[in-house]
Amino acid sequence: MRTRFAPSPNGPLHLGHAYAAIVAHDTARARGGEFILRIEDIDGERSRAEFVEEFFRDLEWLGLEWDGEPVFQSHRLESHAAAGERLKSMGLLYPCICTRAEITAAATAFGPDGPVYPGTCRHRAVDPVNAAWRLDVGKAMDLAGPLEWVDEHAGPQVANPQIFGDVVLLRKDLPASYHLAATLDDATDGITLVTRGMDLFPASHVHRLLQALLGLSVPTWLHHPLLVEADGRKLAKRRGSPSLSDRRRAGEDGRAIAEALREGRLPAGLSLSQGVDHGA
Ligand code: GLU
Repeated sequence: MRTRFAPSPNGPLHLGHAYAAIVAHDTARARGGEFILRIEDIDGERSRAEFVEEFFRDLEWLGLEWDGEPVFQSHRLESHAAAGERLKSMGLLYPCICTRAEITAAATAFGPDGPVYPGTCRHRAVDPVNAAWRLDVGKAMDLAGPLEWVDEHAGPQVANPQIFGDVVLLRKDLPASYHLAATLDDATDGITLVTRGMDLFPASHVHRLLQALLGLSVPTWLHHPLLVEADGRKLAKRRGSPSLSDRRRAGEDGRAIAEALREGRLPAGLSLSQGVDHGA
Protein backbone atom coordinates (compact mmCIF):
# COMPACT_ATOMS: atom_id res chain seq x y z
CA MET A 1 0.00 0.00 0.00
CA ARG A 2 1.04 3.55 -0.44
CA THR A 3 -0.24 6.65 1.27
CA ARG A 4 0.69 10.30 1.49
CA PHE A 5 0.85 13.50 3.49
CA ALA A 6 0.01 16.42 1.20
CA PRO A 7 0.47 19.78 2.92
CA SER A 8 0.01 23.11 1.15
CA PRO A 9 2.89 25.54 1.78
CA ASN A 10 0.66 28.55 2.43
CA GLY A 11 1.47 28.66 6.12
CA PRO A 12 3.49 26.81 8.74
CA LEU A 13 2.59 23.34 9.96
CA HIS A 14 1.00 23.02 13.39
CA LEU A 15 0.03 20.13 15.63
CA GLY A 16 -2.99 19.27 13.47
CA HIS A 17 -0.67 18.70 10.52
CA ALA A 18 1.66 16.68 12.75
CA TYR A 19 -1.26 14.45 13.66
CA ALA A 20 -2.20 14.00 9.97
CA ALA A 21 1.38 13.16 9.02
CA ILE A 22 1.69 10.68 11.90
CA VAL A 23 -1.53 8.87 10.90
CA ALA A 24 -0.34 8.54 7.30
CA HIS A 25 3.23 7.58 8.24
CA ASP A 26 2.28 5.07 10.93
CA THR A 27 -0.41 3.44 8.78
CA ALA A 28 2.12 2.91 6.00
CA ARG A 29 4.74 1.52 8.37
CA ALA A 30 2.26 -0.80 10.14
CA ARG A 31 1.24 -2.27 6.79
CA GLY A 32 4.68 -2.51 5.24
CA GLY A 33 3.67 0.16 2.76
CA GLU A 34 5.10 3.46 1.54
CA PHE A 35 4.64 6.98 2.84
CA ILE A 36 4.94 9.76 0.26
CA LEU A 37 5.34 13.48 0.88
CA ARG A 38 3.56 15.65 -1.69
CA ILE A 39 3.85 19.42 -1.55
CA GLU A 40 0.60 20.91 -2.87
CA ASP A 41 2.11 24.15 -4.12
CA ILE A 42 0.07 25.07 -7.18
CA ASP A 43 -1.44 28.14 -5.61
CA GLY A 44 1.35 30.52 -6.65
CA GLU A 45 -0.16 33.47 -4.83
CA ARG A 46 -0.23 31.74 -1.49
CA SER A 47 2.60 29.17 -1.70
CA ARG A 48 5.99 30.07 -0.24
CA ALA A 49 9.20 28.10 -0.81
CA GLU A 50 10.42 28.92 2.69
CA PHE A 51 7.51 27.00 4.21
CA VAL A 52 8.52 23.92 2.23
CA GLU A 53 12.01 23.94 3.78
CA GLU A 54 10.43 24.22 7.19
CA PHE A 55 8.09 21.29 6.41
CA PHE A 56 11.06 19.03 5.73
CA ARG A 57 12.71 20.01 9.00
CA ASP A 58 9.46 19.72 10.97
CA LEU A 59 8.82 16.17 9.76
CA GLU A 60 12.40 15.11 10.52
CA TRP A 61 12.07 16.68 13.97
CA LEU A 62 8.90 14.61 14.56
CA GLY A 63 10.86 11.51 13.54
CA LEU A 64 8.81 10.90 10.39
CA GLU A 65 10.70 9.66 7.33
CA TRP A 66 9.06 9.72 3.93
CA ASP A 67 9.88 7.35 1.08
CA GLY A 68 11.56 8.64 -2.08
CA GLU A 69 11.90 12.26 -3.09
CA PRO A 70 9.17 14.71 -2.13
CA VAL A 71 6.72 15.32 -4.98
CA PHE A 72 5.84 18.88 -5.99
CA GLN A 73 2.36 19.37 -7.35
CA SER A 74 3.51 22.45 -9.28
CA HIS A 75 5.61 20.19 -11.55
CA ARG A 76 2.45 18.52 -12.81
CA LEU A 77 0.56 21.45 -14.31
CA GLU A 78 0.74 20.00 -17.83
CA SER A 79 -0.97 16.78 -16.84
CA HIS A 80 -3.58 18.77 -14.92
CA ALA A 81 -4.25 20.89 -18.00
CA ALA A 82 -4.52 17.79 -20.20
CA ALA A 83 -7.14 16.27 -17.90
CA GLY A 84 -9.05 19.55 -17.95
CA GLU A 85 -9.06 19.55 -21.76
CA ARG A 86 -10.32 16.00 -21.74
CA LEU A 87 -13.22 16.87 -19.46
CA LYS A 88 -14.00 19.86 -21.68
CA SER A 89 -14.01 17.69 -24.78
CA MET A 90 -16.44 15.36 -23.01
CA GLY A 91 -18.77 18.37 -22.69
CA LEU A 92 -18.72 18.20 -18.90
CA LEU A 93 -17.25 21.62 -18.10
CA TYR A 94 -18.64 25.09 -18.68
CA PRO A 95 -17.03 28.50 -18.25
CA CYS A 96 -18.21 30.65 -15.37
CA ILE A 97 -17.58 34.33 -14.71
CA CYS A 98 -19.70 34.76 -11.59
CA THR A 99 -18.09 36.58 -8.69
CA ARG A 100 -18.17 35.25 -5.16
CA ALA A 101 -20.62 38.00 -4.19
CA GLU A 102 -22.97 37.13 -7.07
CA ILE A 103 -22.93 33.47 -6.06
CA THR A 104 -23.63 34.28 -2.42
CA ALA A 105 -26.52 36.53 -3.43
CA ALA A 106 -28.10 33.97 -5.79
CA ALA A 107 -27.42 30.73 -3.89
CA THR A 108 -30.35 28.87 -2.39
CA ALA A 109 -28.40 25.99 -0.84
CA PHE A 110 -25.40 25.60 1.40
CA GLY A 111 -22.71 22.95 0.83
CA PRO A 112 -19.50 21.85 2.57
CA ASP A 113 -17.59 24.83 1.12
CA GLY A 114 -20.30 27.44 1.56
CA PRO A 115 -23.01 28.63 -0.82
CA VAL A 116 -23.73 26.10 -3.56
CA TYR A 117 -23.28 27.52 -7.04
CA PRO A 118 -26.78 28.14 -8.40
CA GLY A 119 -25.82 27.23 -11.99
CA THR A 120 -26.06 30.78 -13.36
CA CYS A 121 -23.54 30.26 -16.21
CA ARG A 122 -24.51 26.67 -17.01
CA HIS A 123 -26.83 27.59 -19.86
CA ARG A 124 -25.62 30.99 -20.96
CA ALA A 125 -22.95 32.03 -23.42
CA VAL A 126 -19.83 33.07 -21.55
CA ASP A 127 -16.52 34.29 -22.94
CA PRO A 128 -14.12 31.57 -21.76
CA VAL A 129 -11.23 34.03 -21.55
CA ASN A 130 -10.72 34.78 -17.87
CA ALA A 131 -13.41 32.32 -16.87
CA ALA A 132 -13.20 29.49 -14.36
CA TRP A 133 -14.50 26.12 -15.56
CA ARG A 134 -17.11 24.27 -13.55
CA LEU A 135 -18.10 20.64 -13.68
CA ASP A 136 -21.71 20.08 -14.71
CA VAL A 137 -22.15 17.61 -11.87
CA GLY A 138 -25.62 16.42 -12.91
CA LYS A 139 -24.43 15.62 -16.41
CA ALA A 140 -21.27 14.00 -15.06
CA MET A 141 -23.25 11.79 -12.66
CA ASP A 142 -25.57 10.74 -15.48
CA LEU A 143 -22.53 9.69 -17.46
CA ALA A 144 -20.74 7.96 -14.58
CA GLY A 145 -23.76 6.23 -13.05
CA PRO A 146 -23.99 5.33 -9.35
CA LEU A 147 -20.59 5.28 -7.63
CA GLU A 148 -19.36 4.00 -4.31
CA TRP A 149 -16.23 4.58 -2.32
CA VAL A 150 -14.93 3.21 0.95
CA ASP A 151 -13.60 4.98 4.00
CA GLU A 152 -11.82 2.61 6.38
CA HIS A 153 -13.49 4.17 9.41
CA ALA A 154 -16.90 5.20 8.07
CA GLY A 155 -17.40 2.23 5.73
CA PRO A 156 -18.92 2.19 2.24
CA GLN A 157 -20.31 5.48 0.93
CA VAL A 158 -22.55 6.25 -2.01
CA ALA A 159 -20.87 9.08 -3.93
CA ASN A 160 -22.89 12.24 -3.56
CA PRO A 161 -20.86 15.01 -5.22
CA GLN A 162 -24.05 17.02 -5.75
CA ILE A 163 -23.65 18.40 -2.20
CA PHE A 164 -21.03 20.78 -3.64
CA GLY A 165 -23.03 21.72 -6.72
CA ASP A 166 -21.04 22.44 -9.90
CA VAL A 167 -17.51 22.69 -8.44
CA VAL A 168 -14.74 24.70 -10.09
CA LEU A 169 -12.23 22.30 -11.65
CA LEU A 170 -10.10 24.76 -13.62
CA ARG A 171 -9.41 28.02 -11.91
CA LYS A 172 -9.06 31.30 -13.75
CA ASP A 173 -5.37 31.45 -12.89
CA LEU A 174 -4.54 27.74 -12.77
CA PRO A 175 -5.13 24.60 -14.85
CA ALA A 176 -6.64 22.82 -11.84
CA SER A 177 -8.47 23.43 -8.60
CA TYR A 178 -7.65 21.45 -5.47
CA HIS A 179 -10.20 18.74 -6.40
CA LEU A 180 -8.76 18.02 -9.83
CA ALA A 181 -5.08 18.38 -8.88
CA ALA A 182 -5.27 16.18 -5.77
CA THR A 183 -7.27 13.47 -7.54
CA LEU A 184 -4.91 13.35 -10.53
CA ASP A 185 -1.82 13.40 -8.36
CA ASP A 186 -3.05 10.62 -6.09
CA ALA A 187 -3.44 8.47 -9.21
CA THR A 188 -0.03 9.54 -10.59
CA ASP A 189 1.60 8.79 -7.24
CA GLY A 190 0.02 5.33 -7.09
CA ILE A 191 -1.74 6.15 -3.82
CA THR A 192 -3.84 3.21 -2.64
CA LEU A 193 -4.95 4.78 0.65
CA VAL A 194 -5.81 8.49 0.79
CA THR A 195 -5.25 9.55 4.41
CA ARG A 196 -6.40 13.01 5.40
CA GLY A 197 -8.57 14.85 7.91
CA MET A 198 -12.33 14.55 8.31
CA ASP A 199 -12.67 18.12 7.03
CA LEU A 200 -12.00 16.72 3.56
CA PHE A 201 -14.44 13.81 3.83
CA PRO A 202 -17.07 15.53 1.62
CA ALA A 203 -14.44 16.29 -1.03
CA SER A 204 -14.00 12.55 -1.58
CA HIS A 205 -17.46 12.41 -3.19
CA VAL A 206 -16.18 14.74 -5.90
CA HIS A 207 -12.85 12.93 -6.18
CA ARG A 208 -14.61 9.58 -6.69
CA LEU A 209 -16.60 11.11 -9.55
CA LEU A 210 -13.46 12.53 -11.17
CA GLN A 211 -11.79 9.11 -10.95
CA ALA A 212 -14.74 7.58 -12.80
CA LEU A 213 -14.79 10.30 -15.49
CA LEU A 214 -11.05 10.15 -16.12
CA GLY A 215 -10.59 6.38 -15.75
CA LEU A 216 -8.26 6.76 -12.75
CA SER A 217 -7.49 4.07 -10.20
CA VAL A 218 -9.75 4.17 -7.13
CA PRO A 219 -8.03 4.19 -3.75
CA THR A 220 -9.52 3.52 -0.33
CA TRP A 221 -9.82 6.52 2.01
CA LEU A 222 -9.01 6.99 5.65
CA HIS A 223 -10.33 10.26 7.03
CA HIS A 224 -8.93 10.78 10.50
CA PRO A 225 -10.32 12.92 13.33
CA LEU A 226 -9.17 16.52 13.54
CA LEU A 227 -7.26 18.11 16.35
CA VAL A 228 -9.43 20.99 17.48
CA GLU A 229 -9.39 23.76 20.03
CA ALA A 230 -11.85 24.03 22.90
CA ASP A 231 -14.30 25.91 20.68
CA GLY A 232 -14.30 23.03 18.20
CA ARG A 233 -12.34 24.91 15.57
CA LYS A 234 -9.29 23.61 13.74
CA LEU A 235 -5.93 24.77 15.07
CA ALA A 236 -4.60 27.84 13.38
CA LYS A 237 -1.54 29.91 13.96
CA ARG A 238 -3.55 33.09 13.65
CA ARG A 239 -5.51 32.06 16.72
CA GLY A 240 -2.33 31.58 18.72
CA SER A 241 -1.63 27.90 18.19
CA PRO A 242 2.19 27.70 17.89
CA SER A 243 3.58 26.25 14.67
CA LEU A 244 5.78 23.16 14.67
CA SER A 245 8.74 25.32 13.67
CA ASP A 246 8.09 27.63 16.64
CA ARG A 247 8.14 24.59 18.92
CA ARG A 248 11.23 23.19 17.23
CA ARG A 249 13.11 26.47 17.63
CA ALA A 250 12.00 26.71 21.25
CA GLY A 251 13.82 23.43 21.86
CA GLU A 252 10.80 21.17 22.33
CA ASP A 253 11.32 17.46 21.65
CA GLY A 254 9.56 16.60 18.37
CA ARG A 255 9.72 12.86 18.83
CA ALA A 256 8.17 13.15 22.29
CA ILE A 257 5.39 15.32 20.83
CA ALA A 258 4.76 12.73 18.12
CA GLU A 259 4.66 9.95 20.72
CA ALA A 260 2.16 11.89 22.82
CA LEU A 261 -0.11 12.48 19.81
CA ARG A 262 0.06 8.76 18.94
CA GLU A 263 -1.01 7.85 22.45
CA GLY A 264 -3.79 10.42 22.51
CA ARG A 265 -2.09 12.52 25.18
CA LEU A 266 -3.11 15.93 23.84
CA PRO A 267 -1.96 19.35 25.03
CA ALA A 268 -4.41 21.08 27.38
CA GLY A 269 -7.43 22.53 25.61
CA LEU A 270 -7.11 20.36 22.50
CA SER A 271 -9.23 17.40 21.56
CA LEU A 272 -9.79 15.07 18.63
CA SER A 273 -13.06 15.60 16.82
CA GLN A 274 -14.83 13.87 13.98
CA GLY A 275 -14.95 17.41 12.64
CA VAL A 276 -17.48 18.18 10.02
CA ASP A 277 -20.86 16.57 9.73
CA HIS A 278 -20.38 14.75 6.45
CA GLY A 279 -24.05 14.12 5.92
CA ALA A 280 -23.66 10.31 5.65
N1 GLU B 1 -3.22 20.11 0.56
C1 GLU B 1 -4.38 19.90 1.36
C2 GLU B 1 -4.25 20.65 2.68
O1 GLU B 1 -3.19 21.06 3.05
C3 GLU B 1 -4.62 18.44 1.71
C4 GLU B 1 -5.00 17.67 0.52
C5 GLU B 1 -5.37 16.23 0.73
O2 GLU B 1 -4.91 15.60 1.70
O3 GLU B 1 -6.10 15.73 -0.11
O4 GLU B 1 -5.23 20.82 3.37
